[in-house]
Amino acid sequence: PTALLWFRRDLRLADHPALLAALDAAGDGGSVLPVFVVDPRLWEPSGRPRRQFLRGCLEDLRGQTGGALVIRSGDPVRVVPDLVRETGAESVHVSADAGVYGRARDAAVEQALRDVPLVRTGSPYGVTPGRLTKDDGTPFKVYSPFARAWRARGLHGPAPRPDDVAWADGVRSEDLPPAQDLGDTVLPTAGEAAGRDVWAQFRDQRLLGYATGRNTPGTDATSRLSAHLKYGTVHPRTLLAEAQALADEHAEAVDKFVGELIWRDFYADVLWHRPETAREPVDPRMTAMRYDTGPVADEHFRAWAEGRTGYPIVDAGMRQLLGEAYVHNRVRMVVASFLVKDLHIDWRRGARHFFDHLVDGDLASNQHGWQWVAGTGTDPSPYYRVFNPTRQGVQFDPDGAYVRRWVPELRDVPDRYVHEPWTAPGGLPVGYPERIVDHAEERQVALARYQAVRDA
Ligand code: FAD
Repeated sequence: PTALLWFRRDLRLADHPALLAALDAAGDGGSVLPVFVVDPRLWEPSGRPRRQFLRGCLEDLRGQTGGALVIRSGDPVRVVPDLVRETGAESVHVSADAGVYGRARDAAVEQALRDVPLVRTGSPYGVTPGRLTKDDGTPFKVYSPFARAWRARGLHGPAPRPDDVAWADGVRSEDLPPAQDLGDTVLPTAGEAAGRDVWAQFRDQRLLGYATGRNTPGTDATSRLSAHLKYGTVHPRTLLAEAQALADEHAEAVDKFVGELIWRDFYADVLWHRPETAREPVDPRMTAMRYDTGPVADEHFRAWAEGRTGYPIVDAGMRQLLGEAYVHNRVRMVVASFLVKDLHIDWRRGARHFFDHLVDGDLASNQHGWQWVAGTGTDPSPYYRVFNPTRQGVQFDPDGAYVRRWVPELRDVPDRYVHEPWTAPGGLPVGYPERIVDHAEERQVALARYQAVRDA
């Protein structure tokens, strides 16, 4: 028989339980039909960097399947059953999707398939969202207890990569989706081999220094695997297994790194239990929070998005977003805090902008990363946390390496002024803007608004 393998966020062949399930279903003499559906409802809102990265992953997967990958565009609720009819496939295999849209789509496809089963095997996470609950059966609301339960559970080892797959051929495929014009934005190399390489380099050269280095954006100390994890060119279980094997040598670094992968699982779990938190505050009291709108807020938003707020680390971060479709985690927190707490603009507007521009843009991690910073989310002690952009710069980018990389106007400013160039004896360098707001004042405004919500 033919088993249809519908790829989504699992664009790899190694450590792929759904592929093994499809092979099993196909049996001796059967074949696996590899399919990707370009769904306009996901493609359109993705933003160019993610579309281009996805396109690269599909090109790679087509190569790895010896050209057998079938690409079709349209609504999967129609496209997948059509392909089943066309090819006589007897089962459809997927990695479970935990996302808001993905779950609803899969339920609709399952219905439309009628007698042909939709078989979900594995998921893009270490622990499938929805699996872990507190002892009383309710979902975790806070990271630390979730992480404890996650660690106590233990993981399955990676699934073996099959040597030889009989791919079904002769089924009509569309071309790859169109290449995207990215201007000057430089993306990481897409595809499974590239994902493996990025991981292997990090594991062998940088993991050791991860615990201390992960907060310094001027050094390339983190894995840079987020886009690969997003599209599943590598599975977190592969990383977790190989990282754990190094735990004796690098206990602290491995522990930190695993902790970050648990954050990824945690946010997916929160979204799974409460899909409305993609738009609404996790903390319902925060619905009353007042944000600025109108021409001044619009002008502030533009200055933020273009990296000309006059705060060096904020500007560097926003220019990194435009330059690499990526921002270092420490700086994501700083720029998000600046938008919400210094400019008093709704976190959803910032999240939308990130989502349009990030190559790793992921609904769960992005919305909940924003909510965490905005003080509306899962952080148990959020509201007085206001990042000071100058102090963050001095602390985490002490020699200004990160700021200088992204803000050329500041290249010649001495280290001690690079995060507050307005204090430099020679004044602001030519071309670098004045601060658009005063942090100390806006901090007071933000705290007063949070206090008002809490008092209400
Ligand atoms: P590493 O430090 O090497 O971490 C390894 C992996 O762990 C990452 O690839 C990622 O999958 C996961 N991870 C690390 N930190 C976090 C975190 N705080 N939350 C969830 N997962 C994490 N991450 C995304 O993948 N997509 C997003 O759209 C996204 N938006 C964010 C928005 C804001 C406002 C904030 C504060 C964080 C956001 N993050 C997002 C989380 C984090 O910034 C990135 O995952 C990280 O910077 C990616 O770089 P890396 O792969 O080198 O990370």
